[in-house]
Amino acid sequence: MFDLTKIVRDNIKALTPYSSARDEFKGMEGVFLDANENPFGKYNRYPDPYQRELKRVISGLKKVEEENIFLGNGSDEIIDLLFTVFCNPGKDVALTLSPTYGMYEVSAGINDVELVSIPLKYNFQMDLKKVKSALGNTRLKLIFICSPNNPTGNSMDESNIDFILNNFNGIVVIDEAYIDFSPQRSWSALIRKYPNLVVMQTLSKAWGLAGARLGMAFANCEIIAYLNKVKPPYNVSALNQEIAVECIQHKEDIEDKVKLILTERTKIEKQLAEINLVEKIYHSDANFLLVKVTDADKIYDELIEKNLVVRNRNNVIVNCLRITIGTPEENERLISELNKIAHAKSIIYR
Ligand code: PMP
Repeated sequence: MFDLTKIVRDNIKALTPYSSARDEFKGMEGVFLDANENPFGKYNRYPDPYQRELKRVISGLKKVEEENIFLGNGSDEIIDLLFTVFCNPGKDVALTLSPTYGMYEVSAGINDVELVSIPLKYNFQMDLKKVKSALGNTRLKLIFICSPNNPTGNSMDESNIDFILNNFNGIVVIDEAYIDFSPQRSWSALIRKYPNLVVMQTLSKAWGLAGARLGMAFANCEIIAYLNKVKPPYNVSALNQEIAVECIQHKEDIEDKVKLILTERTKIEKQLAEINLVEKIYHSDANFLLVKVTDADKIYDELIEKNLVVRNRNNVIVNCLRITIGTPEENERLISELNKIAHAKSIIYR
């Protein structure tokens, strides 16, 4: 049986959180001489520590109750806070399915938490047999499942995730950073069904706000309360909150851009397939393509020389480049440069 009190660190349960000036007085109007702010200026006031207005807007967008939402300074902050709440340094364990997003491992390292990494199968789906055998580890507290997965681009099989949620007594984090590009449904509708589920999303990808830093976690109220307990009091700046509210209020613009990105993805998939440097293009539910090429290091270097930056994943998946879908013009540049490289090579090897 899942019991949250058994997996939260004792020191976090016992912690008296910082109580900010704005925690004690919640009104909007008044003479504020309580927070040692400067009385002059536009951004002179500390922001709402619980981002109520933004949560209201996100709640309408995502159909998740405000009390089930936690906001972080990017989802990277949320990953770190999850380690803080659930993993005793030097003792507990977290699990990832590799290759996946690199920050789970870095955050584990920063928090002195051992990371068990189970390789994905040839089709980039999880090896459920191996995962099952890891679930018995009593020190295992957190499982990170990235779906759609970075850098492979595929969504994880729902029945496998379902099995883990039903059979693991720790926290299952489903990182849905790329969900807005995917035809799959979000797991956020199931936070009431699964008390051990944390769904993470972000405004950094489809919403075009990577610069603003806004990550979201959806979970039951008890988990949200622990995240609030350990977060820095004003972790999301007033500027971040304002721009996020504005962006969500103009969601039609974003939806159009997402459609364009998906059309571009289909287009460059076809164009890439015709270039003889390209050996395989993996199916993607995200705004990038994982592409196997003849020699990733060389092609990466040649693109860099042209000031065209893709992500070389050769050290993670042999000879693979991860290519983000750009504007139509940027994508054309990419295809044109790759064609030039392919052409030059065919001359050399002729
Ligand atoms: N999760 C995944 C899977 C990502 O790829 C990224 C960013 N590359 C993040 C989380 C971090 O997102 P944020 O900008 O919200 O910190």
